[in-house]
Amino acid sequence: GLLGPQPTSLTGKATMAEFESALVWFRRDLRTHDQTALSRALHESRRVHCAFVFDTEILDGLPRREDRRVEFIWHSLVELRRELADLGGGLLVLHGRARDEIPRLAVELCVEAVYTNHDYEPQAIDRDAAVEAALASRGIAFRTYKDQAVFERDEVLTQNGRSFSVFTPYKNAWLQRLTSADLEPHPTKDRTARLAPPVSKTTLPTLEGMGFAQTNLLAIPLPAGMSGAERFLAEFLDRIDEYRERREFPAVRGPSYLSVHLRFGTVSVRRLARLALEIGGRGAETWLSELIWRDFYFQILWHHPRVVGGAFRPECDAIEWPNPLGHFEAWREARTGYPLVDAAMRQINASGYMHNRLRMVVASFLVKDLHVDWRLGEKYFADNLNDFDLSANNGGWQWAASTGCDAQPYFRIFNPVTQSEKFDPGGKFIRKYLPELCKVPDRFIHAPWTMDPRDQQACGMRVGRDYPAPIVDHDRARKGTLELFRRIRSP
Ligand code: FAD
Repeated sequence: GLLGPQPTSLTGKATMAEFESALVWFRRDLRTHDQTALSRALHESRRVHCAFVFDTEILDGLPRREDRRVEFIWHSLVELRRELADLGGGLLVLHGRARDEIPRLAVELCVEAVYTNHDYEPQAIDRDAAVEAALASRGIAFRTYKDQAVFERDEVLTQNGRSFSVFTPYKNAWLQRLTSADLEPHPTKDRTARLAPPVSKTTLPTLEGMGFAQTNLLAIPLPAGMSGAERFLAEFLDRIDEYRERREFPAVRGPSYLSVHLRFGTVSVRRLARLALEIGGRGAETWLSELIWRDFYFQILWHHPRVVGGAFRPECDAIEWPNPLGHFEAWREARTGYPLVDAAMRQINASGYMHNRLRMVVASFLVKDLHVDWRLGEKYFADNLNDFDLSANNGGWQWAASTGCDAQPYFRIFNPVTQSEKFDPGGKFIRKYLPELCKVPDRFIHAPWTMDPRDQQACGMRVGRDYPAPIVDHDRARKGTLELFRRIRSP
């Protein structure tokens, strides 16, 4: 109008709205409650359309046509759409290049603004800039918000205004800065009358229609959507008090298993942090720390996009990783002869999940025992983890490889046998994934090659035939790694 848009605040009168109509673009925020972009759109616009794009720029880069993430998203969208329909709205689900589809849809719907939530990955930043420019050329606003992190970008800095690269001071500053307002839910339920009914009777594209096939997601079972997150959360809250003690043992249900839900935003991180603070105690505090690690790596990626493909500590890019023939393949295919490593690799291959302790063990093993470039391991995890997140994955790999911020010192090298004895003492986890070792007695389960042939026969297996002999000698491999790092230190 002549007077221009009417400014409103979240607390403004219900009748005031800045825009006649807007589009909310869902990405990794697949929920209807406490969703920032959705909340802002509902408060600032009279009519709100919702859309999700299966982005071919992302899908085309996936290594396999059976991908649990694509299926997880698909099931989550079915639920999101049903939920929006129950509230009187709709969800358009498109398949194409998001950078083309979103501006096209915005024009077709005649919206005045597109709302979405921040994404900190370099490719996403590039895509969003393209979308913003395309929208701007048509006079359509592009509004983006923080949603997936509690604190993002420059919100937590050192006293000198620099970004943190060490976790503990970051965490302290994070906690110091936190007020209850930061964890306040972004309301949506008070304005659902503004959701626009579906424009047409479009259906969801099928997995097959997009060239993908069903996976074992439902058989695992990994429940998707907001309801799946609710289930995991409810179960976890029953054991959160013991989180600190239980989380290190892969055979025990210790952690929350919420990472995939955080990844796709089927649960709100603000709500999780609020719960952790309300519950309190050692378990909840330790768990909150893990959520802070997540913010920490988001901001590392934001401040240092060069960590994609390069070491956080540039001097480490001079390391010449030997990548011995066959080592990476043996690791990937769970044939290293170190039971805990192989069991962990079978876990990720079978389910797309791997316990945090094991991620550290197998990453360390690939780099420091097998002398393979950490980037190959990072890529394998990226291709296979349901919860794959560029920032956390890169951070985890660089930590294990001692090339990153606040990384494991290069001379501290996990011993895969000792780790196994400590964190899977009864061999329960190993036996679950390596049934060929099920009869191996506890005292040999962590290093079956130490059994003499008679003992091997007694438990129905032979090392080298039914289960591989160790691919490397840990002590020798360890010395090799120290040498690799020494070379870049004193050329
Ligand atoms: P919980 O123990 O219940 O933790 C709660 C939440 O905190 C997690 O869901 C996750 O969102 C967050 N969190 C926990 N630990 C970390 C961490 N170290 N860094 C960042 N966030 C964390 N996590 C991912 O989400 N995606 C990845 O791609 C990923 N790759 C990793 C690679 C390596 C080599 C390593 C060592 C760790 C990686 N992690 C990754 C971190 C961690 O292993 C997983 O977040 C955790 O195992 C997920 O299980 P959970 O949800 O049961 O965790």
